[in-house]
Amino acid sequence: MPEIDLEKEKQEILQAYRGLLRAAKHSKKDAATKKRIRKAFDVALEAHKDMRRKSGEPYIYHPIAVARICGEEIGLGATAIICALLHDTVEDTEITLEDVEQMFGKREALIIAGLTKISGVVDQNVSLQAENFRKILLTLSEDVRVILIKLADRLHNMRTLGSMRRDKQLKIASETLFLYAPLAHRLGLNAIKSELEDLSLKYKEPERFNEIETKLKKTQAVRTRFINQFLLPIKKSLTEKGLKFEIKGRPKSIYSIWNKMEKQQIPFEEVYDLFAIRIIIDTDEEDEKAACWKAYSVVTDFYQPNIDRLRDWISVPKANGYESLHTTVMSPTGKWVEVQIRTNRMNEIAEKGFAAHWKYKEGGEESQFDKWINQVRELLESHDDDDALDFLDDFKLNLYTNEIFVFTPNGDMKNLPKGACSLDFAYSIHTQVGKRCLGAKVNGKLVPLSYQLKSGDQVEILTSERQHPKKEWLNFVKTHRAKSRIKSFLKEERKEVAKEGRLMLEKEFKKLKITYNNPSLKALQKHFKVSTELDLLFKIAQGEIKLKGLKDLEIKEGVVRKKISIQKRMQSYFGQKTEEEQESTKKNVLVFGSNMEKLDYKFATCCHPILGDEVFGFITVTEGIKVHKTSCPNAVQLMSNYAYRIMKAQWVDEQKIDFLTGLKIIGFDDKGIVNNITQVVSNELNVNMRSLNFDSHDGIFEGLIMVFVQDTSHLKSLITKLKKVPGVKKIERISKK
Ligand code: MN
Repeated sequence: MPEIDLEKEKQEILQAYRGLLRAAKHSKKDAATKKRIRKAFDVALEAHKDMRRKSGEPYIYHPIAVARICGEEIGLGATAIICALLHDTVEDTEITLEDVEQMFGKREALIIAGLTKISGVVDQNVSLQAENFRKILLTLSEDVRVILIKLADRLHNMRTLGSMRRDKQLKIASETLFLYAPLAHRLGLNAIKSELEDLSLKYKEPERFNEIETKLKKTQAVRTRFINQFLLPIKKSLTEKGLKFEIKGRPKSIYSIWNKMEKQQIPFEEVYDLFAIRIIIDTDEEDEKAACWKAYSVVTDFYQPNIDRLRDWISVPKANGYESLHTTVMSPTGKWVEVQIRTNRMNEIAEKGFAAHWKYKEGGEESQFDKWINQVRELLESHDDDDALDFLDDFKLNLYTNEIFVFTPNGDMKNLPKGACSLDFAYSIHTQVGKRCLGAKVNGKLVPLSYQLKSGDQVEILTSERQHPKKEWLNFVKTHRAKSRIKSFLKEERKEVAKEGRLMLEKEFKKLKITYNNPSLKALQKHFKVSTELDLLFKIAQGEIKLKGLKDLEIKEGVVRKKISIQKRMQSYFGQKTEEEQESTKKNVLVFGSNMEKLDYKFATCCHPILGDEVFGFITVTEGIKVHKTSCPNAVQLMSNYAYRIMKAQWVDEQKIDFLTGLKIIGFDDKGIVNNITQVVSNELNVNMRSLNFDSHDGIFEGLIMVFVQDTSHLKSLITKLKKVPGVKKIERISKK
């Protein structure tokens, strides 16, 4: 090991520290602030004094560099600089959060706590990364400086990645590309995003990176000459028009060139936009828009623009705050050239993002950035049990897809990801609107919920009190907001249905003398192969799990066994039906009420009715329905005192019985839909339609059919088939005619 000159090293550290102070442009320069920064430096220096980085240099260089990035490249103030200096102390040294709070204050301790929480990116495992990403985003709801310092930390680690082991390099570079670059992009930190991408590529694909870098250098001179020539008339004319400006011909980032080569499968030589011309205008804020369009007019006076490539992010800034006017024009040599026109202010936002933005919009209305933060916050709050990967997918979708801009009937603009449908729009207005959404009118034309919106569409949402979210909706909504709202509704709905299932199961258990407890439920889950109690109860309520079969099972303390009853054995001996079974064959031939429903019942022991007797049902308090003969001695008393508990009962031949039931069908009016519905009904075996009634308004139709069906499973199969008819959106069973 070479000898280290500690005195010299100390001088160098102090020099780095002074560099930081000079670079901290946005920090207050009063004595008290300076003293606080110095204190943070001293604390960090002392805490890290025995630590060195992989490169061999003293550890303190890292926090100094991170603090400098915060001050210089992100434009943050003293608090962030102090926290950046201390960012690794709580995790790696003796210093505690209490120490930080005592020495610097609550805010600082909070930020360091956030930083400590999200450090420790553990594994290359994808879901862990995703989980980590979520954790990172969670800190947004605490203090956004946590994220910004974390990005600065990552940037410095990427800049010094060379001294790491190869496998570590790969891991860190992948992670950067996967998590941090998109995050920087979303925060509008474009310079940092580009650098992170370039550095990641450099370590992930060193050969490709070098190839592109070398070729860019080689073609530099030719490019410069071309750019100068191209700009000559523009510069002259801009000056004549009295505009103050600066022009840059910037090569695109290596990563973006590589990305283009990959995506379009073309060699370097065929990438036409290796650079972009940037015209930066120096003007007052109120003249910005006019000045930019003036410059646009100058550019297109000389060169023919490609109208399809015109992007006006001045009138409508991107969600991350980016403002600029982009056009692509044809140069005299037949090459397309991208020209970006913006003002100084816009340029600073484009490079530094949020921090710069902040400076200009202070105290103003809600900025795009605030909107975004709020969106993320909302997203995180609604995120309870989706798994992290799901969340990440949705989030990345929200990060990457281009946005579209659509309008409410009042002309309010909404930002949605590309591919969003009318239902997404409805949810973006309000959860209640989304929930009740029946369809939409886009530019005056009726469209379904799944209709994909385009920029510029004017959207009016049609709602109905009767509407509620469906599972199928998840197949076409695009925004996380809509997805999570639909999911949580469905879950609530499932819980409601499951409650019914629980009542049914409790009753059945009671009958079979099984204790309703966790082990029994777990045993049933296992037996029916469902993973949760909710699923079990839901399926019971839906009739997918039949309770009838339970009596053949022995359920005890977590174990389910097939029961071979004494009666069964006796039966096989004597070839005779047992009492219990005789009753069960009787069961299904009595129906109750005017709807002729099949219900569980028992025969009264006072009058012992048998098949064919004139009978009625009496609803008892504890034992369900008891069936009495109308001639039963108790009948008169029961009927006169408890008339409301009497149910009409009727003997029926199970094979022949039909029930009359009503179905309400809601959908979009479509030629042939009535025909299709009647077709389905008449094709269904043994279903007879008694009446049919359709009503249509505003392109939405409501249909009412009365049909005779055999039982609920029969009805269910009919409903399933009807749901598949194009245009049909909703079917509900109505109990009354
Ligand atoms: Mn660090």
